[in-house]
Amino acid sequence: MRILCTGGAGYVGSACLRWLLAHGHEAFAFDNLSEGNRAAVPDYAQRLIVGELIDTDLVIDTLRTRSIDAVMHFAALASVPDSISDPSNYYRVNVLGTYSLLEAMRAAGVKKLVFSSTAATYGFHGPEAMPLQETAAKNPETPYGTTKRAGEWMIADYARAYGWGYAIFRYFNAAGADPDGNHGEHRRHESHLIPLTLAVAVGKRPALKIFGDDYPTRDGTCVRDYVHTSDLAQAHQRAVERLEPGYGEAFNLGSGEGATVKEVHAACERAVGRSIPVEYAPRRPGDPAVLVADPAKAIRELGWTPCFSDIATIVRTAWQWHSRHPDGYPD
Ligand code: UDP
Repeated sequence: MRILCTGGAGYVGSACLRWLLAHGHEAFAFDNLSEGNRAAVPDYAQRLIVGELIDTDLVIDTLRTRSIDAVMHFAALASVPDSISDPSNYYRVNVLGTYSLLEAMRAAGVKKLVFSSTAATYGFHGPEAMPLQETAAKNPETPYGTTKRAGEWMIADYARAYGWGYAIFRYFNAAGADPDGNHGEHRRHESHLIPLTLAVAVGKRPALKIFGDDYPTRDGTCVRDYVHTSDLAQAHQRAVERLEPGYGEAFNLGSGEGATVKEVHAACERAVGRSIPVEYAPRRPGDPAVLVADPAKAIRELGWTPCFSDIATIVRTAWQWHSRHPDGYPD
């Protein structure tokens, strides 16, 4: 298939794009490079279209001239704390950007869509509700979560009315790097746990700040479900290959296992082979205590077989990338 990946120069989008190329598909990236990197896209001179999703005409032109069969929509702002301090940006990029893309697909007659959503659409649930199934109540607590949930609604409505096939993936904590050691996480503004921990290990930051050690969890720090980008990519491939008009499902993508912030930090120390300084800070607004997926639906319905999502493999591949490329991708 010929697939357009919006946000295809970003962390998850580019991992999926590279995976698609390695598994018999043709793939293009559409990215404004606000967080993405050219060098994350193989043969970017041919494969990367730099532009704004809000520019509907440019998206229509891209879909037509590249004869696109299906879209994977990764492009979004994705930091919970930033969404709280600046929701305006999140509504513009995540909601208006998605609307513009859907209009472009309608105009160009593209009817297959895989959408990157998030566990943040579920909001806060107690530990007794874990692992979360797709049917769990969705009460997003942050603008990041609400804007992604709005995207899910728009897609379901368009698909129903216009005869599209779609899959929505609610990622838990995307993590890790390509096993080749040459592609991984690199944002202008980083807020995620594993890259920040490894940035301390390479001497770019003085200490990891642990946000809150008084949560009702086994060691007082938040529990998250980390899932490797190569496993996310495999799920996207399996979904896009089965999309047809009338198919529309949402799936959790997670390992089904939770790790605390302290456990992730300890796994990073083991991968790096030395201690990584920490300091304790107050809780971060918007953080639920525990968020763990039940991934059974994706395993059952898509034949998804996650292979890289144990925390040791996630951290080992992330460290290969960060230790070899401490400054990330070249400019
Ligand atoms: N976290 C932390 N220090 C950091 C970054 C994150 O203690 O510098 C914690 C954060 O409070 C959360 C967990 O690590 O409990 C995962 O946060 P991240 O931002 O990586 O992903 P999120 O769960 O927000 O999507």
